[in-house]
Amino acid sequence: MAGVRFSGVTKSYGSTTVVHDLDMELPDGSFTVLVGPSGCGKSTSLRMLAGLETVTSGTISIGDRDVTHLAPRDRDIAMVFQNYALYPHLTVRENIAFPLRATRTPRAGALKRADEIADSLGLGNLLGRKPKDLSGGQQQRVAIGRAIIREPSVFLFDEPLSNLDAKLRVETRTELLQIQRRLGITSVYVTHDQEEAMTLSDRMIVMRDGRTAQAGTPLGVYANPVDTFVATFVGSPKMNLLDGEFTGETFTTTSGFEITVGVAAARGPVTLGVRPDDLMPVPAEDGDATVKLIELLGPRAIVTLDVRGAELTSVVEAARLTGLAEGGRVTLSAAAGAVHVFDRESGRRSVGANTDGNDTSR
Ligand code: ADP
Repeated sequence: MAGVRFSGVTKSYGSTTVVHDLDMELPDGSFTVLVGPSGCGKSTSLRMLAGLETVTSGTISIGDRDVTHLAPRDRDIAMVFQNYALYPHLTVRENIAFPLRATRTPRAGALKRADEIADSLGLGNLLGRKPKDLSGGQQQRVAIGRAIIREPSVFLFDEPLSNLDAKLRVETRTELLQIQRRLGITSVYVTHDQEEAMTLSDRMIVMRDGRTAQAGTPLGVYANPVDTFVATFVGSPKMNLLDGEFTGETFTTTSGFEITVGVAAARGPVTLGVRPDDLMPVPAEDGDATVKLIELLGPRAIVTLDVRGAELTSVVEAARLTGLAEGGRVTLSAAAGAVHVFDRESGRRSVGANTDGNDTSR
């Protein structure tokens, strides 16, 4: 096993640079998720680590080996893709054993090891089946088994769950996490889905335009986003952003709407960020905001609010919905200490940033 390091890694296609001077340090045994909108360079970064793309400049190492120019097969990695690409004519057992057979491991030994791995993935009773007779989730587990059997130093996952339906995706995600915890193999996982990133990673790297926007623990990034991009990318429903100014503990938006914040958070023109969970609508006949829509999710509800033409989102415990009705008027307050303040010009966080040792380097 080994950690992974990117040092100043750049990837250009002709005159277009898609990954800029990327530095990443992924500790041995960690589960790192590269997350960001489509086209931000996640897959390219993973493919450079796998050796499937050349590196324009910079170095990539696995453990103490510089692998920048090594062929994929010499890097001691295993990769699981979105399309599992199982061999249709081989059984589950033979598919899992395949990488060992390719290295000329004797057949009996390879099949025995495949059986053990299939067992650990809950595929023990499906050993003789062909891929077409498996569900999508089972096929993806076979693909994971085929990656595990080689006992690589590093696992790479490129959106491996995106072909599965919502329920299977959640189940397979849980299984994947358990397998990774059990094996303790350094893993790098690419997704555009921030929820997947939050649940899987012990380290999350948010990418934007071929650069690191923020790196840290999922909770650290969620609690202290470095700018409005990360603030609105991580978390669902997404963070509300409002331009305005503070007067003491009251924030007045540029449209003249007031929100009670409970702390004097900043001076001058800023962008205020409030997570939907921290924005509280209170029924009031003379309230300046209107409830547009209430969507009950079970124990909680998403409340969409109209604030002088701007739309804000609040998440309210179902038990606290009393008095709130669509079309009703409300005032808004934000939990003290729960607001995020960003520089209006640059979008960078201006107060309260970085309390948990996040590394926020760009
Ligand atoms: P992500 O995985 O974050 O969606 P990618 O790493 O696939 O993004 O792509 C990053 C950028 O690189 C995109 O703008 C994409 O169009 C560009 N790109 C990827 N492959 C090539 C290529 N072979 N030639 C030119 N541009 C490419």
